[in-house]
Amino acid sequence: MTCVFCRILAGELPASFVRRDDGLVAFMDIQPVNPGHLLVVPVEHVELLGDLDPETGRRMFAVAQELTAAVRRALGADGVNLFLADGEAAFQQVPHVHLHVIPRFAGDGFALRFPPDYEDRPPRAELDRLAGILGRAAGVGP
Ligand SMILES: [Zn+2]
Repeated sequence: MTCVFCRILAGELPASFVRRDDGLVAFMDIQPVNPGHLLVVPVEHVELLGDLDPETGRRMFAVAQELTAAVRRALGADGVNLFLADGEAAFQQVPHVHLHVIPRFAGDGFALRFPPDYEDRPPRAELDRLAGILGRAAGVGP
């Protein structure tokens, strides 16, 4: 077993658990952006979000929602980012689905960098075209 999260779940590697049940765990990130940065992780090994059981996905978000409130209450965070990296191109470093809960504090220095053409808004026709493609692909579009 090489997946670091599966090894944590098997007790082979240490972690600081915030919560744990049969389907989902949450533990502290060992390389936190800010103090209190934690990960919500399904127990089942699944690499990509789209392959995760939908009910587990819903619960993962519900747990992150609870912990977001806890981070604000207990640590006095000014804000929280939820971040899910789905695939290597999206900065996924551990190939096991996980949702980051990142406490944010004013002036903490964490930032997103946008591509150079980010300010150039695409025409409505292009947005409509992509909306149609994605709606059909998801089986929910008009
Ligand atoms: Zn795993």
